Amino acid sequence: MKRLNFTLDEQTIQLLKQIADQYYHGNKSHAVRAAIEALASQLGHEGWVVAGFVPVSVDTGAKCHTCHRQFRAGETLYRPVFRRGRSHKALPQLPREQWLECSDCAQAIAAEYA
Ligand SMILES: [Zn+2]
Repeated sequence: MKRLNFTLDEQTIQLLKQIADQYYHGNKSHAVRAAIEALASQLGHEGWVVAGFVPVSVDTGAKCHTCHRQFRAGETLYRPVFRRGRSHKALPQLPREQWLECSDCAQAIAAEYA
């Protein structure tokens, strides 16, 4: 255990007191710990997240990773580019399989990470 010194505005202090009184028998340390744990689970775990997409003109038939629609040679699909980051969807390791998304699915994924 270690004592930390915080500066909080009056509104936050009242909210902390209210939560501590209501759920943690007035123990503000327990309320702060619960709040931080809730925040950590909401932010997700560290891993690989989609940073963007690169368009790829496929030379053979290929299917979308997400919706499994089949696309013909010459059509444009989108290959995800990964970076390290936090998300509830973060991958523990980089995918080994070929991963291509159709434009609809790539846009939906990009919007989730925006
Ligand atoms: Zn798709």
